[in-house]
Formats: sequence, C-alpha cells, structure tokens
Amino acid sequence: MTTLGTEDNPLLVAIVGSGPSGFYAAEALFKSEINVKVDIIERLPSPYGLVRSGVAPDHQKLKQAIKLYEKIATSEDFNLISNVTVGTDISVDELCASHHAVIFTCGAETDRRLGIPGEDLRGSHTATEFVGWYNGHPDYRDREYDLSHDVAVIIGQGNVAADVSRILSKTVDELKHTDIAQHALDVLAESKIKEIHVIGRRGPAQAKLTPKELREFAELADCNPMVLEQDMLLNPESAKELEEKTNIGCKKIYDMFCDFSKLEPDSSKSRSCFFSFLLGPKELIGNDRLEKVILEKNKLSGEPFKQSARGTGETIELEAGILFRSIGYRGVAIPGVPFHESWGTIPNESGRVTNDDTVVTGLYTSGWIKRGPSGIIGTNRACSVETVNCLLEDIEKLDDGTSKTGAAAIYAILDSKNIEHINYEQWKNIDAKEVERGEPKGKPREKFTYVDEMLAINK
Ligand code: NAP
Repeated sequence: MTTLGTEDNPLLVAIVGSGPSGFYAAEALFKSEINVKVDIIERLPSPYGLVRSGVAPDHQKLKQAIKLYEKIATSEDFNLISNVTVGTDISVDELCASHHAVIFTCGAETDRRLGIPGEDLRGSHTATEFVGWYNGHPDYRDREYDLSHDVAVIIGQGNVAADVSRILSKTVDELKHTDIAQHALDVLAESKIKEIHVIGRRGPAQAKLTPKELREFAELADCNPMVLEQDMLLNPESAKELEEKTNIGCKKIYDMFCDFSKLEPDSSKSRSCFFSFLLGPKELIGNDRLEKVILEKNKLSGEPFKQSARGTGETIELEAGILFRSIGYRGVAIPGVPFHESWGTIPNESGRVTNDDTVVTGLYTSGWIKRGPSGIIGTNRACSVETVNCLLEDIEKLDDGTSKTGAAAIYAILDSKNIEHINYEQWKNIDAKEVERGEPKGKPREKFTYVDEMLAINK
C-alpha cells in the first residue's frame, strides 16, 4: 500500500454536518499539501446548517459566508451527500469502514432546559424552535406560535435572544424583503404583541449580546427600546469589569443600555422592547397555557468577571401570553460516538475524540459539538483548523491497511436501503428554484420548508 495522502492512496475523510465548521474543516483539508477527498454528509437535503436556518433573515450579510462554502464545494475532491442521517441511515462504524477519518461537525441541535415548574406549559417555547420556524427549517415548519397576546417574554440576553426579540419587534415591511419563510411572515403580520421583555439573570454589564445587535433596537420602525434608569446602577465589581480595556464590547453594550434608559419613548410607535436585569425565571404559571411568569430578583456575587446571579427570595410577576427560552443551545448524541451528557458535547482533545480520556483513532470533531455553543460563524474556522491539524499529524495512524472506497461505499449502503440522497448539483437545482420563487416578492429566496418539496425538484 502506498503512503496515505498521495495520488494513489488519497486520504478519505467523511464530515458529518454541513454547517460552517464542516465546510471550514473541508477548506483546511483542501489547503493542506496532501491528496484528500472529502464527503460531507448532511441530515437535511439543504446544506449550510445554522447559516441557513439559524442566522436571522434580516442579517443577510452574515449569510455571505455561503459564498465561500460554495467555492469549496466546487472542488472535484468534494462531495455532498445530503438527506442522510448518520446513526440511522448509515452507522458510524460504516463510515469508519469507508473512510480513514470521520469529523463530527453536527453542531448543537437542541436547547438547554431552565428546569423550573411550568417550563412545558403551552405558550412556553424554545428559541431554537422559533428560530428554525421563521427560517423555514423543515423540523419546525408546522410549529404554531400564538402571537395574539399583548406581552412576550424572552429569557436570556445573548444574540439569539436579540434575534428573537428583534423579529418580534419588527414590522412586516421590515421583514418582507428578507428570506424569512412566508408561513412565518404571515403569522407575524397578525401579531398583537405590544410589549417584549428580554430578561437577563445578571446585570447590564454582563449581557451577552454584541453591540451591533443591540444597536439595531434603536433603529426599529415601530418599536421603542426601553431600559429603566434605576437598572443601570452597577455594583463595584461590575464597574471594575467595565473599566477593563479588553472588555470594550460589554462597555459599549452598557453605554447603549444607558442611552436607551434616557430615551423619551416615541409615542407614535406601537411596540416596546424592555431589557430588564437581575431577574431569574422561577416559575411559569397558567391553567392550560402560560399566563404569568414569576421572576426572582437577583444579586450578583463573586469577583469581577466571575460574578454569578443569586436569588434574593423577592419575586415579581409578569403577565405574559408567550415566552421563549433563549438560554443556549445543546448538542445531541450520535449513536456510536462518545458524548459528554452534562456538557452536551463530544469529549475531545483539541478535536481528537476521546473516550474515557483515551483518544479514539480516526474520530475527530469541530464546531459547537466540540467546544459548546459559543462564538460567531468565523470562530468555527479556527476551531476546524485546529482539528484538521491534529488529523494531519495523525495521518500515519489512520491507514488501518483495509481498502477503503469512500463515497462509493456510502452510496452502496444507502442504495441498498433505498435511502434517497442529494448531491451538490441536485442541491444547486433546489437552490436555484428557491431564488426563483423569491424574485417576484423581492426576497433573496423563498425557501422550501418541507423535505418532500425539496426532493421533488430533482424528480
Ligand atoms: P449565549 O450567548 O450563551 O446567551 C445565553 C443567555 O442565556 C445569557 O444571557 C445567559 O446568562 C442566559 N442564561 C443561561 N442559562 C440561564 C438560566 N438558567 N436562566 C436564565 N438565563 C440563563 O447563547 P445564545 O444567545 O444562544 O448564542 C449562542 C452563540 O451564538 C453565541 O456565541 C452568540 O454570540 C452566537 N450568535 C451570534 C449571532 C450574531 O453574530 N448575530 C446571532 C445568534 C447567535 P449568563 O450570562 O448569566 O449565563
């Protein structure tokens, strides 16, 4: 057998998940000097993960990352195998038999739980599902959101909470030329929500959203951003945090909250978005659906940058008809792959998958399933480069002497089970149809929101 990574014996890598970390892993492999063939396997017919179904529809610029992924996909050594679920349609063992290495880049597909009474009452939703719904993700296409109430509550103050509250705060005119799914736009057009409350368990110096995202609330056509002036008081530890030069983002956020607290609300605007702090969700109350949110007033304790929220025992009630839990995503286990239950990630050392602290030869991971749900799209590039560097260092260990046929072996397995799969060219046909459907509406695209609709395009 010739050396692995040469023309006669190319390195065969299967990547599970076609979001940013998957494409950045493919990019890093192609940039290396070795001969490599990459097969990205994706559960949905459509690629690009959260760039397609997580990034807010009114943030089209962020979706330009797709242009790079499209360039990567044109490599003759690249192959997309979508509409295939690893662990169900094909096993990890089968991927290990067909490829020298497997990289898991399947993201964090579910939400963390609050763990409070009433969390599952009708009217209490996860942000993940709502985001997937307005972005046309087939898993959430048929979710129903009752926006007939006056008050919506969002728990959490990260960028996902910012996205959810901004979408609820915007008018149809502000959204109709984005790639928001039509079914969601139709429901949002009938929204009766007047007040949106974005609740942080810590203070205004610890909010996790970023300045660009917060600034957008000052530019809304029909919604006033609201902050109580008394909420801007800082404890000495928080004041110290904001003095740190490296903490410039939080300082900008705090200054913007201060500006909001001094704004005279524009009475011609019909909605208000309140940012409130030091309030922890305690209980959701309602007979057959959400009626009230009980929040406990919090105090911060601990040194600067390590402050956590502690309940004071004092509670307040907020009447609300709908609530979104936006407290972070969580990874889902894949059968046959080690999983850290409490962290919701695949255990790893710099991207090498480990089992009981021992490296598992041939298995790698990158992105949110490797490090947890943090960072922006570009963060995944460095994360994937680290993983691919480890894989390339290990190359001598990856040749187990068996003959491997890569994609051909996967296709044989899928075809024997009659599992319909989509390649990149077929995806581009779906993509073109979506763009065509969007044109008459002045939208970048009108997404297909059911898997069957997507599959029908290539029949
Ligand atoms: P996140 O940034 O981790 O924010 C989670 C929020 O939930 C924090 O405010 C956190 O408060 C709060 N929280 C956590 N557990 C809680 C609990 N038990 N009770 C009450 N509050 C709780 O997560 P995310 O918003 O889901 O975003 C995930 C990543 O995607 C982030 O890196 C984000 O920047 C990124 N993202 C970026 C964009 C963009 O660039 N436009 C858009 C969307 C998402 P503590 O701080 O106290 O933990």
